[in-house]
Amino acid sequence: MKADPTQWSKQSQRSVAAGWTKEYTDIAYACWRCRKQDVFSAEDQHRTLCGQCWQEANDIRRSIEFSQRQWASAKSALRGDNVFLSGRLNLLVELEAYMPYKTDSAKKNMLLKLIKQNAQPALQADGPASGGPTA
Ligand SMILES: [Zn+2]
Repeated sequence: MKADPTQWSKQSQRSVAAGWTKEYTDIAYACWRCRKQDVFSAEDQHRTLCGQCWQEANDIRRSIEFSQRQWASAKSALRGDNVFLSGRLNLLVELEAYMPYKTDSAKKNMLLKLIKQNAQPALQADGPASGGPTA
């Protein structure tokens, strides 16, 4: 067997280069939400958000989970509580700003429906006043 030293050294150079690029897979990335450039390490590359937005989105998710637990434990009381319902709706809408897809629209529609139902009696009571000013 004839060894070809030029060929061999070329090949080893190539594999060194391959090893180099493999180790440095951190990529610069524009945050999906705020467009800020961030560098994601290899294990973060499933992320689409910069560190700050990622943290904010996590906070919102935690609040949603908390309100979910409240809702589950006191549904009958909370379905008439528009402060709770609209707070929960706002969280779901807020989270959408951090994701390239929509949050659970069935959940949002249910909340909207309840909020409207709760608001209606009040609207009717305040309805068009009889005997308003005449021109
Ligand atoms: Zn961001």
